[in-house]
Amino acid sequence: MTQQNGKLAGKVALVTGASSGIGEATALALAEHGAAVALVARRRDRLDELAGRIEGMGGKVAVIVSDLAQAGQGAEVVGQAVEALGRLDIVVNNAGVMLLGPLAGGDPSDLTRMMDLNVTALMHLSQAALETMKPQKSGHIVNISSVSGRGASPLSAGYSASKWAVGGFSEGLRQEAKQDRIRVTVIEPGVVATELTDHITHTQTKDMYEGRIKDMEMLQSEDIAAAVLYAVTQPERVNVNELLIRPLDQG
Ligand code: NDP
Repeated sequence: MTQQNGKLAGKVALVTGASSGIGEATALALAEHGAAVALVARRRDRLDELAGRIEGMGGKVAVIVSDLAQAGQGAEVVGQAVEALGRLDIVVNNAGVMLLGPLAGGDPSDLTRMMDLNVTALMHLSQAALETMKPQKSGHIVNISSVSGRGASPLSAGYSASKWAVGGFSEGLRQEAKQDRIRVTVIEPGVVATELTDHITHTQTKDMYEGRIKDMEMLQSEDIAAAVLYAVTQPERVNVNELLIRPLDQG
């Protein structure tokens, strides 16, 4: 596959959380199939390194450093992507944090951080993307939820709440956006080997969770990137609404 004859040649994608894990693998996969890619996250060094790899393959890329949890970043980031790459066809709302921990005695700011990034930023960025995609009468918004967007368990109430919100928002968005031929996909991964657990602030919960998954053959970020690629490369009449992907070992 080359950039010019790839299935996504001529398309522009924006991927949030592209500095590591699922976002990084997804940006790379989209670029490998010919899309120009806007890479969004806070860590410029990681984005620059990925941009170098994509440019090395002959791809077109824009680095956009943004703390998406701050108000107004959705419109700002979409504006910068369109200015740099000319249009916007695919948005992958992937940036997220999973701050597991008990509710009683837990840090309330963990709940706020999850809602600000996993939910509010995703909604604002989707709104801004719709403005750009509507006149094109085409576009695709892919929202990364989680198995936790389908269920809930002790220590994951806040995270589950944020991912259930992603599911509800995405279903409403799907029904509203289809009149403008804009597609919406929700992807719900199980355990993926990434940096996600590094940010858990409740040490006891972090140790317990990492202990629970350590012997599991976890998914790799590339497995989720492949699911995103599948959804966005279907014929326009096909709207892949939801994909739930667990490691074989996960209960
Ligand atoms: P990573 O921690 O590797 O990636 C998270 C990404 O989000 C990073 O690129 C990070 O970049 C970015 N990010 C975090 N905070 C902000 C912020 N305030 N503004 C902008 N970007 C931010 O984890 P994953 O790849 O695993 O997570 C990606 C998504 O997948 C998340 O939504 C997560 O909930 C979901 N998911 C992950 C699963 C797993 O088991 N790993 C399972 C199910 C769902 P930076 O720090 O540079 O800003």
